[in-house]
Amino acid sequence: MKMTLTVNPNPLRLIALSVLLVTGNALAGEATNDSDESPIPQSQTDAGQERSLGDAAKPEDSLPGTLTILGTKIPPGTVERLSWSATELFAGVPIATPVLVVSGNLEGPTLCLTAAVHGDELNGIEIVRRVMHNLEPAELSGTVIGVPIVNLQGFRRGSRYLPDRRDLNRYFPGNTKGSAASRIAYSFFNDVVSHCDALVDLHTGSFERSNLPQLRADLRNPDVLALTAGFGSTVILHSTPAEGTLRHAATAAGIPTVTLEAGGPTELEIQEVKHGVKGVQTLLHTLGMVRKVRLWGESEPVYYRSSWVRANRGGILLADVALGSTVREGDLLGTITDPMSNSSARLFSPHSGRIIGMARNQVVMPGFAAFHIGIEAESVPTDESGDELNPHDADDSDSLAE
Ligand SMILES: [Zn+2]
Repeated sequence: MKMTLTVNPNPLRLIALSVLLVTGNALAGEATNDSDESPIPQSQTDAGQERSLGDAAKPEDSLPGTLTILGTKIPPGTVERLSWSATELFAGVPIATPVLVVSGNLEGPTLCLTAAVHGDELNGIEIVRRVMHNLEPAELSGTVIGVPIVNLQGFRRGSRYLPDRRDLNRYFPGNTKGSAASRIAYSFFNDVVSHCDALVDLHTGSFERSNLPQLRADLRNPDVLALTAGFGSTVILHSTPAEGTLRHAATAAGIPTVTLEAGGPTELEIQEVKHGVKGVQTLLHTLGMVRKVRLWGESEPVYYRSSWVRANRGGILLADVALGSTVREGDLLGTITDPMSNSSARLFSPHSGRIIGMARNQVVMPGFAAFHIGIEAESVPTDESGDELNPHDADDSDSLAE
């Protein structure tokens, strides 16, 4: 079924004015209550703390329209290339990570785009580049902050991980006394992410798996739900973010965040890049930040649930379906053949749905998650149990999501 979302004409600006934070979030602290305007009907929200997001997103001494980030004042109508360094971490040598800022001439929210939190995920780097270098500061309402390669260390080595083999996307919002990963996460979260009114974190599938372009979002959060409505024709998967992910930490800090997954790691896939660029540009338009953009009207079905089909034996996995294809329960998904004995086993779909992620053809071990089936559901789930909603094993949330 087609999901109809009620799109506020400018949801993010309203969110930027006033956002309802659920209780217990990380950055809220002693929130002030100086704005009562809320885009969210009270009935749809938890009775949480209310405060102006502007208070959290900007230093107190900044003038309206002037952003101070990474020690630099950025006046309206300018483009800046800044550097973020989590210093004193790697043998005393700072690693300067580029942060691009396009500050619009007109009032508006601050949207952040982050890519390559996993260093081997290349599509998002190119998505950020294309979006950022197409922005005209004179015509932009608000600010776009783009970080093409968050995990520069991993990127240089072609690795998903940090040099200490930790997954940066399990350590947000970080702290100043923990592991290197915690410190890097803390520095990035406080120096860059805290300036965002909303965040799109770009990823791909992991470990030789490819994802149909899709948003992963906690649809029970009204601010996040509003954000997902802006991407045009992009599949939306309800998913509760794993703790330590940038999506989890930023959303908990009152910055509505979605993950945009597109394609697989270690390659630049032009169709996926184009989809991502179009989705983000449509979002910028939906948020009222840009005017001139090709509109992308048709929305995709929302998949509230998903399920992984795993290899039942080891061998060479060859797929019989393509990414994005629709399957019925019982359809053949792929074949796994033992290269020594030549015996083979077939994988069938346990659900009717759509292939929203799948392994590239490769040698697999028993238990390898091979096909990700998106299953349409009638409504946004209201309970808190993410595991039941995404009925895969716990390790999926570690290795397969984001
Ligand atoms: Zn990733």
